[in-house]
Amino acid sequence: MTSLLERLVATIAPYYCIVCGTEDNRLCSICATDLFGNMPSTCFVCNLPTNDFAICNKCQATAWLDHVWVGAAYEGQVMQLIKQCKFERAVAVATALGKALATTLPCLPEKTIIVPVPTANQRVRQRGYDQAVLLSKAIAAETGYKVAKLLARVGSQRQVGATKRQRAAQLQQAFHAIGDTHYMSYSLLLVDDVLTTGATLHAAAQCLRAAGATSVNGAVVARHALAGEQRQ
Ligand SMILES: [Zn+2]
Ligand SMILES: [Zn+2]
Repeated sequence: MTSLLERLVATIAPYYCIVCGTEDNRLCSICATDLFGNMPSTCFVCNLPTNDFAICNKCQATAWLDHVWVGAAYEGQVMQLIKQCKFERAVAVATALGKALATTLPCLPEKTIIVPVPTANQRVRQRGYDQAVLLSKAIAAETGYKVAKLLARVGSQRQVGATKRQRAAQLQQAFHAIGDTHYMSYSLLLVDDVLTTGATLHAAAQCLRAAGATSVNGAVVARHALAGEQRQ
């Protein structure tokens, strides 16, 4: 419904790039190149410099992922676009962001499956769409890999107000594996919009590993600055 309405709106009201104002999409390809792909390659857990956004040796012992690729910093225009992705003209914005993220990814194994990190159900019901699915579809269109929904949310407890320990416990049981189990032998690429502490990605990856996944990586549109991190 949302996408049909969006398509109708798009034929009447054109999209303008949020950065330069060109009539194109909410993020034109030139501005996408400026905003994406400039992140330093670091371990997503401890922020130590690594090659190809790999998890560092120290964090590997407790991480369920091998690489987490980050498209951009969660600030400025990228932050605005991600916020829009949740409210207005979501399909167009998410498609532009997914495409921009896809251009920053390295060459992935042939047997790669894109797995959206499911948004909490309650929020999807309110909005009518899931931005991780929209992002995944956009990455699939760019890269040629397939999307498979291999994770579902268990319940939808709200994290607001819970203590850090309660949130961690809730998250650990937040997902269960669904769908075609033969994909567990593929290289799975978890896709989400924003990386904050990484706890959601960890929980999603842990669930996939428990279901038999042999290779799990992640790709996020943008990452929050870590405590004490300086950006110009
Ligand atoms: Zn532009
Ligand atoms: Zn690390």
